Amino acid sequence: MAKILIVEDEPAIRMGIKDNLEYEGHEVLAVETGETGLQAARDERPELVILDVMLPEMNGFEVCKTLRGEGFPGGIIMLTARKEDVDKVRGLNLGADDYVTKPFSVVEFVARVNAVLRRGGRASEPMARFRFGDIELDFLNYQATKGGEPLSLTPREFKILKLFVENRGRVISRNELLDKIWGYTIFPTTRTVDNHIVRIRKQIEPCPSKPEYIISVRGVGYKFDG
Ligand code: CA
Repeated sequence: MAKILIVEDEPAIRMGIKDNLEYEGHEVLAVETGETGLQAARDERPELVILDVMLPEMNGFEVCKTLRGEGFPGGIIMLTARKEDVDKVRGLNLGADDYVTKPFSVVEFVARVNAVLRRGGRASEPMARFRFGDIELDFLNYQATKGGEPLSLTPREFKILKLFVENRGRVISRNELLDKIWGYTIFPTTRTVDNHIVRIRKQIEPCPSKPEYIISVRGVGYKFDG
């Protein structure tokens, strides 16, 4: 069973796909606009997104490109109504795993869905960008911005943030941080870790004394909640 997100504004198609995938045993979320689809993909982290091209607010091409730019690891199948769209999906290198042209048969559609799920999305691709709140991290260029303004993080602080993002929702102990960020060559204390966290919080937290993103887990370490 996989978690699948459908982004399609035509009710008949949306409900038809939803029913069929639920019948196959999947957990299915369905939304109607590009904006809500993007947000649902970020929040729910589905294994697969079924993405219509022609959508209100933000079209499917933009949604796909944005998600891949942020390192979205799941599969993406585009739904297209026109031959030109198929060429565009192929030509733009948006990061879609497959496309299906309307009208389509349910049997074929379910087969495509299963094929993309079997391939397991793109989990192995490194993340290029990550956004939380008004913070944007660019992992390729080691740059961080808050509300569009550059932050002055040291390379080590940036590395710590990257580790948090890659393990979001999981508690990372001080010892794990020492091991992965400082390595075995020098011997800083857990106090060093805490000092770095204080400095990162000053830059990224709206209220550093009441952190929302880098949460302290008493007696263990920290957890990133982005
Ligand atoms: Ca549509």
